[in-house]
Amino acid sequence: MKKLNMLIMGPAGSGKGTMSELIEKKYNIAHISTGDMFRNELKNNTELGQKASSYMKAGLLVPDEVTIAMVVKRLNQDDCNDGYLLDGFPRSLVQADVYDAKVIGTPKDLGLVINLTVDEELLISRIENRRICRSCGAVYNVVTLPSKVEGVCDICGGELYQRADDNRESLKQRMASYYEETAPVLEHYRRLGLIRDVNASQSIEEVWADVQKAIDEFLNNEEVL
Ligand code: AMP
Repeated sequence: MKKLNMLIMGPAGSGKGTMSELIEKKYNIAHISTGDMFRNELKNNTELGQKASSYMKAGLLVPDEVTIAMVVKRLNQDDCNDGYLLDGFPRSLVQADVYDAKVIGTPKDLGLVINLTVDEELLISRIENRRICRSCGAVYNVVTLPSKVEGVCDICGGELYQRADDNRESLKQRMASYYEETAPVLEHYRRLGLIRDVNASQSIEEVWADVQKAIDEFLNNEEVL
């Protein structure tokens, strides 16, 4: 069977985290979220976390060399040999070039890119209402997907928090970074014929159904995309 080496792309609030959790569980592949990795470094107060912190708070991209080194190290780990899901990377053409050069012609070569598309208004309300479990990372929305008990994770009982960068000011900057730096990455993979667009303004169930369809078609298609 074909290996599932894939990216999930989309602006902040498009549901990358939620879909990534579902993909990781169903297809049993390594989930590499650069945002989560940076937040973890920050939590552990490492040098890398401190470097990334001011960029993250401002909604700016962490410099490419720092990000690339972190991802390359992660991709070399054994759990990525049987497929992986990159979430939030590459976010600039420089990152994409280095990543492509690393994987092309190897068993880790990229097969599929899921692109989540959403109306901007919806993104803002999703971001402002987003809450995340401090312990297991599960994602909630206080309006559309609330936890059973306010502030407490349904899955593990952990405390729910709002990300420091989930506010209007930082969101504006994250959107700008997305359109300026990440949109060209999408165009690059579109030219290579790797992109499957999914309408992520739908309900979670509908988006998940479309994502599974795209992945299953990729896995069942014998031809190289
Ligand atoms: P996310 O959780 O994907 O929204 O990422 C949160 C923040 O982490 C971003 O706003 C950036 O500051 C930083 N970040 C995550 N991934 C990358 C990346 N590939 N390149 C640069 N910065 C990143």
